[in-house]
Amino acid sequence: AKLKGRNHFCIYEQEMNQANEEALLIENHLRKAIDNKELELYFQPKLELNTRKINGMEALLRWKSPMFGNIPPDKFIPIAEDTGLIIKIDNWVLEMACAQNKEWNQSCFSSPLRVAVNISPLHFRLPNFHRVVEEVLEKTGLDPHLLELEITENSFIDNIDECIECLEKLRKMGVGVAIDDFGKGYSSLNYLRKFPIHSLKIDRSFIHEVSKNREDIAIVKAITFLAHELNLKVVAEGIETKEVIDILEDIGCDEIQGYYISRPLPKQEFETIYRTFIR
Ligand code: C2E
Ligand code: CA
Ligand code: CA
Ligand code: CA
Repeated sequence: AKLKGRNHFCIYEQEMNQANEEALLIENHLRKAIDNKELELYFQPKLELNTRKINGMEALLRWKSPMFGNIPPDKFIPIAEDTGLIIKIDNWVLEMACAQNKEWNQSCFSSPLRVAVNISPLHFRLPNFHRVVEEVLEKTGLDPHLLELEITENSFIDNIDECIECLEKLRKMGVGVAIDDFGKGYSSLNYLRKFPIHSLKIDRSFIHEVSKNREDIAIVKAITFLAHELNLKVVAEGIETKEVIDILEDIGCDEIQGYYISRPLPKQEFETIYRTFIR
């Protein structure tokens, strides 16, 4: 038994080392990815349920690495967060997304659309985060009302007062804030009372099987009721079937996003799908 335990430990240690080496390798390449133009933004449309119109999109990062091929964000974002690289990456995404939306709203869209950008908790918790946003808006000339930031509950772990202060500054600027992956973490509902935010984005694990699962329906209903009572919009993500849309419509969800409507698309293709939706 002693021997077995030892072996287990060795295997575990080996795997740890491999994982670390892989992370280090990815980190080294990620560091140069921006300058080497290996990063690209994809855009996934958001559909407003009562008008059935596209009213915005989420910018999602893609890394096409000559070394590793296409690496999904779930793999490289955590590494970027561990190494602090995420600040540079998030800033790049923020600026590109704002610039693209500015261009689209000038030349392509028939009514103004908002762009949503994911902000890592590490980034949001920087002392002068609102200044970063302010500078990008100045630089790109995008109307602040056409920008929405998606932050997760982990952003609020500590420094509640500073969070509120930052959110209030963003609100004053006109920038929208959504709580992403809502319901997935362990955080309390306490902050919903105090935090000036605009919408809740229900985590896709609750949406995924909402047509088959009574518990999920109950949760989505309760979140929607809560959000509306608090004057917040409700967004559901991960919609893959028509049945799910019907249920969400009954429940009164405001906006939906998911493969059933469209996968995240590169710039050119987003323009095409947008045009097919305006009639
Ligand atoms: P997220 O912010 O929750 O983004 C939604 C994810 O769900 C995206 O994965 C999207 O492609 C995927 N998705 C959309 N519709 C469906 C659907 O119908 N079914 C399923 N199964 N999935 C769907 P993606 O693009 O791989 O991004 C994964 C995560 O990586 C994001 O989760 C976000 O946390 C992070 N991420 C992506 N881009 C950025 C970025 O620019 N900055 C930061 N900080 N994080 C990012
Ligand atoms: Ca998001
Ligand atoms: Ca999400
Ligand atoms: Ca997420």
